[in-house]
Order: sequence, then structure tokens, then C-alpha cells
Amino acid sequence: MKLVQTIAEVVRETGAWRKDGERIALVPTMGWFHEGHLSLMRLARSLGSRTIVSLFVNPIQFGPREDLAAYPRDLDRDRQMAEKEGVDILFAPAAEEMFEPQFQTRVTLSTISQGLCGADRPGHFDGVATIVTKLFHLTSPDVAVFGEKDLQQLALIRRMVRDLNFNIEIVGHPIVREPDGLAMSSRNSYLTDAERRTALCLSQAIGRARETVRHSGNAVPVENLVAAAAAFIAAHAGCQVDYVSIVDRWSLVPCTAINRDSVMALAVKINGRVRLIDNGLLLPGDGR
Ligand code: AMP
Repeated sequence: MKLVQTIAEVVRETGAWRKDGERIALVPTMGWFHEGHLSLMRLARSLGSRTIVSLFVNPIQFGPREDLAAYPRDLDRDRQMAEKEGVDILFAPAAEEMFEPQFQTRVTLSTISQGLCGADRPGHFDGVATIVTKLFHLTSPDVAVFGEKDLQQLALIRRMVRDLNFNIEIVGHPIVREPDGLAMSSRNSYLTDAERRTALCLSQAIGRARETVRHSGNAVPVENLVAAAAAFIAAHAGCQVDYVSIVDRWSLVPCTAINRDSVMALAVKINGRVRLIDNGLLLPGDGR
């Protein structure tokens, strides 16, 4: 595996692949790899003939009061993990390599960036859309893999690729969870043992909603499911609900009734410190 840290080299390497007719699969990440990232890498390897993983803690997607400085980083560790997965290039540029001091362009999506996490993190999704656009231009992938863990990010990238006519296939990967149900996340490393146990209430709230739908049928009012989930989470000491919503998994428009594309999405702050997200379909999905 090659570690590449400059724009010139990544353009040269991926350009050579392209010339050789390789099918390039890209996995954008912010590093501090866990099994979720590794599963995306494996999927990417099965979808292309060359795999490139980007590792970049993107400063323009963090708000001024967010955890940019504290975000866990260990290039050596991540490099070894990616190498074991058979990744061909790990592209890990410095912030200055990606953003000149005069940088002033943003890719902005409208309604799809505004609800859910967008409400609490103004500018976040512009930062995501902008960096992903840059990575697409730099690496010219045929296919890019994103996790369903970041439901809004995935919907937004799909929308952007259609809107801006990127000739790139976007593939989602199901959420990878710890055995007890906690969605894997680099930010789980911020949790104390007690907070880690409390954090189980996110996946449990979704599981309870799914059970309610299974028992009562999908005629159960959406507001009741949302209220029950929010109350369940709020009953856990130290948990503050940012949002609980039930939305269409593709458009993110709020559902008025439960169907096979209805996802419960939620964000919770634990002890005012660690913000976690999770989501899940409320009926068995249609596999689209
Ligand atoms: P991050 O490094 O957190 O920006 O994540 C990089 C990619 O991995 C994104 O597409 C995430 O959605 C995906 N990802 C992170 N955690 C998980 C998980 N537990 N299951 C599936 N995908 C994940």
C-alpha cells in the first residue's frame, strides 16, 4: 500500500490507474479506523480493481465549538489497518495541502442539508459536500462507498452526484455495530465506560420503535413513535436529545406514515460532551 500525502501524487497515481483501465473505488474517511471503516474498505475492494481510502479530518465541516482539535488521529495505526485490508493507496493530505489560505468555494445543497444534523451543525454539510467534491476530482473514482451510519451525508452525496452529474456510482454500506448494538464510531473513543453503557439507549430506542411497528402495524402514528423514543432516551441520566425524526431514507423528508423506506434517525449528546448519531429502518427494508 502506498501512503500518498500530496495532491500532485494522488492525481498522478489515480490518473495512471485510469489510463490502465482500472476500476477505481474510493472510501472517504476521517480516520481512527474501526470495523465500520474496514467493512467499507472490503466492500470497495469487491467493487473495483483499485482501492483508494482517503483519510482527512476536514476542518471545514467542523463548527467553531466542535471537536476538530480533539478528533482522534493516529496515522501509523490507520496505515497498518488499511494495508491489512489490501487498500492500494491511503491518501492522507495535510489540511494546508487541501485548502489554500485563499480558499473560498463551497458546494451547498439546500433542503437536504438543513434538517436533522444540519439544524444543529450549520455549515457542516457544505463542508462535507465540498471536500467530497474535491476528493472526487482528485481521485476520479468509478465508485465511492459511504456508510449508512451517516444517513444524511449519504443522501446528500447521492443528491449531489445526480445534481452535478458526477459519473460516479455511490454505494451505501449498512451500519456496523458492536455486539451490544452500539453503532461503531470514532467518537465512541471519547466515552467513559459508564457513558458507553448509557450510549446503548440510541440503538435501543430504534429497536423499541421497530418492535412497536411490528406489533401495532404501520398505522401507528409517527408522532407517537418519535415521542416514545425521545422520552426513552431522555430517561437516561446525562442524555440530551438533539433530535429524533422519522424520515424517508432517500429524500430525508419527514414521513407522515411508516413505510419500507422510513428511517428513525436520532442524535443525542451524552453529558453535554459527546454527540452520537444512529438510525435504522422501522420495517424490513426493500434492499434498494
Ligand atoms: P468517518 O471517518 O466517521 O467520517 O466515516 C467514514 C465513512 O465510514 C463514512 O461513510 C461513514 O458513514 C462510515 N462509517 C462510520 N462508522 C460506520 C459504521 N459504524 N458502520 C458503517 N459505516 C460507518
